[in-house]
Amino acid sequence: MQFELKRLPDYTDETLIDEIRRVAALVNHPTISRTEFQKHSRVHTSTLEKRFGCWENAMNAAGLSDRFDSSNKAVSKEDIITELQKVSSKLGVKTFSREQFNANAHFKDSVIRRVFGTWRKAMEAAGLTANKLGQRYTDEECFENLLQVWTHYGRQPQHREMNQPPSIVGPKAYTLRWETWTKALYAFVARVNDDLQSVNTSSEPESQPTTKSATILKSKTDERDSRDIRLGLRYTILNRDRFKCVRCGNSPAISFDCLLHVDHIFPFSKGGKTEIDNLRTLCQHCNLGKSNRIEVSDQPALRP
Ligand SMILES: [Zn+2]
Repeated sequence: MQFELKRLPDYTDETLIDEIRRVAALVNHPTISRTEFQKHSRVHTSTLEKRFGCWENAMNAAGLSDRFDSSNKAVSKEDIITELQKVSSKLGVKTFSREQFNANAHFKDSVIRRVFGTWRKAMEAAGLTANKLGQRYTDEECFENLLQVWTHYGRQPQHREMNQPPSIVGPKAYTLRWETWTKALYAFVARVNDDLQSVNTSSEPESQPTTKSATILKSKTDERDSRDIRLGLRYTILNRDRFKCVRCGNSPAISFDCLLHVDHIFPFSKGGKTEIDNLRTLCQHCNLGKSNRIEVSDQPALRP
């Protein structure tokens, strides 16, 4: 008698779905486990899993996706490694942030932490390199990365683009540091202007008050004699040259692997100055083709 009561009239999808819904109404807990379901059900969960593919699909078919306990979903180490490698080949990089992972994977990085303990262990298990996530990026790293992405698109990047290569600092680092993306962009612009100030004011030293010109002239001299091209100056040159190689016209916007360098027209090693008129944008091919190879190392592009 008991046996007969536990049988369903038929086993069509509709009947099974009705049964799932009937049992769901009897379970008080917000999520429904297989064990709990079995206590009330007239059909075995394995039958439902066979019919719908898995327990989650069965719950979805009954319109009960909100009552499926995704925290119990079994994700194995192998699943995680596979997913990490998938994201790696999709992004074309061996290191990426958790934010980048979350934006491109089928589950969240919290699952990885639960299974592997740490993000680093999981990345290493997948043959990848864990970047310095968890640590704070310096302003310098944030600005250098922003310039890299800006150069890549040839325009002001959008917040979400910081999640994709060539960005190696995720968007969250910027909003953690500057509250909003807009404020981060303002900070970048302020930094560019700061860097340029000495160059701009010193280009017309005669317009400056006499008392100041000695100091300005000195800072101008220091700046021009530094092999290092400040971020603000690099941005200015790239922007002036419209983020294109001035020789061949190539740009990252045209070909993804194009890397732009800011180059001394008259080589620094031969006495060329680090000033706007002696700087230009070259792609790595045109830069390498130059006779004076020393200049290649002048301004290495930011790379992971
Ligand atoms: Zn070129």
